[in-house]
Amino acid sequence: MIKYNLKCKNKHEFESWFSDSKEFEKLKSKKMIECTLCGTKVIEKSIMSPNVLSKEEKENRIKSSKNLRKIKEDLLKMRDFVEKNFEYVGNDFSREVRNIYYDKRKNKNIYGKVTEEETEELKEEGIELTAIPWIDKREN
Ligand SMILES: [Zn+2]
Repeated sequence: MIKYNLKCKNKHEFESWFSDSKEFEKLKSKKMIECTLCGTKVIEKSIMSPNVLSKEEKENRIKSSKNLRKIKEDLLKMRDFVEKNFEYVGNDFSREVRNIYYDKRKNKNIYGKVTEEETEELKEEGIELTAIPWIDKREN
């Protein structure tokens, strides 16, 4: 079944159900659809209603939005973990990470911001970084 929003020549809008789009075209050409308000048979299709998704499409949509939520939750958990257990060093990150790397006594977990260039430089020095997608908490 498909639901169409219909509009007559007098701009009255109403809804009607059809078994498919062909049925609508057939009934329209035979002038078997009339405006529920004024009775004119000059009808045009307005916007198609969005609730014509198949069952499968609906399920897919629900599933993907659930997956997305799950990923987001996981990323938020990771962010919380980092914030609780790591020291934030902001833009000093590459300097701080070198201090830790070259001075083994300084053993602490840090997090902060690096540019792509800095990441490359550190990599050349043998310092591998883990990048975490930083989820904005306000969105939730
Ligand atoms: Zn009408």
